[in-house]
Amino acid sequence: LNLNVLWLLITPIFFTLGWIAGRIDMKTVINQAKQMPKKLYQAIDFLIEHKTGIASDNLKDIILKEPQLTELQLSLGKLYRSRGENDIAIKTHTKLLNSQFLLNPEERENVILELAKDFHNAGLIDRAENLLTKLIDSERYSNKAQELLLNIYQQDKNWLDAISMANKLTSSDYSFHTEVAQFNCELALDAMIKSNLDSAKSYLKKALETNKKCARANIILGDVYKIENLHEQAIQTWQHIEKQNYLYLPMVTEKIFDSYIELNKIKEALILIEGYLTLYPNLTISENLFIKLQNFIDKDKLLSFLKNSIKNKSGNPSKLAFFILEIYNNSQLLPKDLKQDIEIIKQLLNNYNNKLSRYKCRMCNFKSETFFWQCPACYEWESITSNPSE
Ligand SMILES: [Zn+2]
Repeated sequence: LNLNVLWLLITPIFFTLGWIAGRIDMKTVINQAKQMPKKLYQAIDFLIEHKTGIASDNLKDIILKEPQLTELQLSLGKLYRSRGENDIAIKTHTKLLNSQFLLNPEERENVILELAKDFHNAGLIDRAENLLTKLIDSERYSNKAQELLLNIYQQDKNWLDAISMANKLTSSDYSFHTEVAQFNCELALDAMIKSNLDSAKSYLKKALETNKKCARANIILGDVYKIENLHEQAIQTWQHIEKQNYLYLPMVTEKIFDSYIELNKIKEALILIEGYLTLYPNLTISENLFIKLQNFIDKDKLLSFLKNSIKNKSGNPSKLAFFILEIYNNSQLLPKDLKQDIEIIKQLLNNYNNKLSRYKCRMCNFKSETFFWQCPACYEWESITSNPSE
């Protein structure tokens, strides 16, 4: 036999061996795959179809048979929580925490974190707080635990702990200066309610040191001066807001006006307010201020301000229109039959205005008639802006 013939014989043998080896390999793979509980695939299908109830039942059955699948049990708890079944989520995660199959300390910490979230969702804030403080020194979960604690302190209006937690969390990625300044403003308001004006001032000073753009701190500081009857200082403080963020000016224009009136300085008041209206035609000035101005400036000037506001889409067009009609109606110039028509239009506008939301959150689109410094829906600070688009 020559070498070529030998190769011709050997090659198919190797091929056959390889083929058999391949077959055996494939068989093991398929066998192992079939050992994976069929219910797991069904559960995934149910999840895709948003049938989370049946999916969780399936996962629960698997875990009863395969308690070593700790990660699956962790996910099952999360699934219960997302369905709002907080009590079952708590049970599932507590059981997992005591499981003999939970060997890895890091995995344990993860379960503690999820359990804390369950307690938080269930409104059991103290228990959530207890668990989260256990994770403060965790290498992996410390940050997440501290972020949750910061939320809890804010919900509890525990501003002092919120400040220290925010300071701990401050990093090069995110400084909490907006939040910390707001927490100090909250403390200042608490102090004001207790008539502790000096303490209020010191919190406001801290707020401005933390965030010199904190307009709210100057709004409150002006209020403190006003209580102390220091109207000049109040006006000066409120005027600072123009440099901080002029969009907050509408929140103080009426206050400034009132303080000037207290000082009997009507001329100064008008110069400043007219200046703001001319310089910032897009400001949403409240109708109240226009109503007050009515007694001090002539009708034509007031009408031109109102018409400008409508033209510049500042303020609520329908509310301003209502006011314009009111001015016309009060004037002696209109014929009687027109007066009746105007009354009807006013009524229509008023019905419409009552349904309007003056403010909107730019983060979550939450709408409201009252202003909030912290959005009640998404808990973001300084995200609420005026909503003249309506
Ligand atoms: Zn929001």
